[in-house]
Amino acid sequence: MMLAYLLARGGARVTLLESHGDFNRRFRGDSVAPAVLDYLDTLGLAEEMLTTLPHTVVSTFGWHTSEREYTLADYRWASRRFPFYALIPQARFLPFMTGKAAAFPGFELRMRSRACRLLHDDDGRVQGVAYARGDGERRLRARLVVGTDGRNSKLRVLGGFRARELGAGLDVLWHAVPKRQGDPAVSGLQLHSTAGALLAVLDQDTDWQLGYMIPAGSYRHVREAGAAPITEAFTRRLPWLADRLGTLTAVNQMTLLPVRITSVDRWYRPGLLLLGDAAHVISPVGGNGINLAIADAAAAANLVLPHLTGAPARLDAACARVEQVRRPLTDKEQRRQHRAERSARGRLERGLTGPPPVLRAITRIPGLPALNGRQNSALIRIPRPCAQIMGTT
Ligand SMILES: Cc1cc2nc3c(=O)[nH]c(=O)nc-3n(C[C@H](O)[C@H](O)[C@H](O)COP(=O)(O)OP(=O)(O)OC[C@H]3O[C@@H](n4cnc5c(N)ncnc54)[C@H](O)[C@@H]3O)c2cc1C
Repeated sequence: MMLAYLLARGGARVTLLESHGDFNRRFRGDSVAPAVLDYLDTLGLAEEMLTTLPHTVVSTFGWHTSEREYTLADYRWASRRFPFYALIPQARFLPFMTGKAAAFPGFELRMRSRACRLLHDDDGRVQGVAYARGDGERRLRARLVVGTDGRNSKLRVLGGFRARELGAGLDVLWHAVPKRQGDPAVSGLQLHSTAGALLAVLDQDTDWQLGYMIPAGSYRHVREAGAAPITEAFTRRLPWLADRLGTLTAVNQMTLLPVRITSVDRWYRPGLLLLGDAAHVISPVGGNGINLAIADAAAAANLVLPHLTGAPARLDAACARVEQVRRPLTDKEQRRQHRAERSARGRLERGLTGPPPVLRAITRIPGLPALNGRQNSALIRIPRPCAQIMGTT
């Protein structure tokens, strides 16, 4: 959506295909980083978005045990104007962006349109997609097809890219419960640990989004054990939630996120570029799925816009450049996540509570949580929108 907005704003004709009929998916990456808020501000969108869309402001990321609280990242110095993560459900953010993109004549959104086949020219160059809509198949010719179809990307498969699983240590079970008056005022992004359980609590406006980590691949075993160990873990650490957990009686009432960290051998081939989760599935650790996808879009828009009407070879070179600038950052984040996941799984299985020693050290040294917050946000590294997007050429 972000890429479509940027390209349309830069004067290109862009058609966005979305397989679903709406954007109301529960439990997605909703944590918009300070660097992304700064970027949206440069585009003139941040103020309106934060004024009109209900959201939660998160200034710190903490890990709580029954003994003490550790502040692992403090975002109050991560941006001058937006020193916080904004938790905005994608179900609100995406319609907001649709409205903004619709102001540009080149933008078109086709809902319930599932890309199902690539179209090629005689030389094998991708020159469009076929998509299923209603009971028919339609074709769309394009100078460039961008696969932004998420973690199970069909276009990645159709394009013959090779995906390699780096192996995540944990899967997450998500569940939402309504907020009630008198709930404690907690920061919107927290981990809680108690013997044998690692829990996440996210403030989602009218709901608490609860996460329960399980060793990767253990879902069947957890389901057979039933919901009781899960509700017990939550009520032991967060007794004020007890009045809402009575209705959670079976594990299949929760949404399973099989965490994946996936690396793709390359992000482009002539006429086709992969971005976001299609190019690099990342784990929820650090909450940067949406942020890295937006940073990809920002870099891609700047690089491909000038070449959408030129020689195909130049467009290909621009796509190669997108991978060149974005891959090192996503690779680095994936390596960091891989280490964090492995360590968290090991500690969970050994019944250890609290953050690992290296993270505890951060909390003991004044200034380090703030540095960590700044680094987390800086890692996303979003380029300024080019002059064509800003309308100054
Ligand atoms: C259940 C779940 C929970 C998550 N939780 C977190 C979290 O807590 N923290 C975090 O940082 N990240 C989380 N993520 C990941 C985060 O949502 C993604 O990293 C981020 O949304 C990536 O954006 P994207 O645009 O690349 O892909 P997506 O947001 O996945 O968007 C892909 C879009 O393509 C559409 N689509 C798929 N196939 C086709 C097709 N063939 N034709 C047309 N349209 C198609 C889909 O309907 C979807 O709207 C979660 C992901 C999932 C699935």
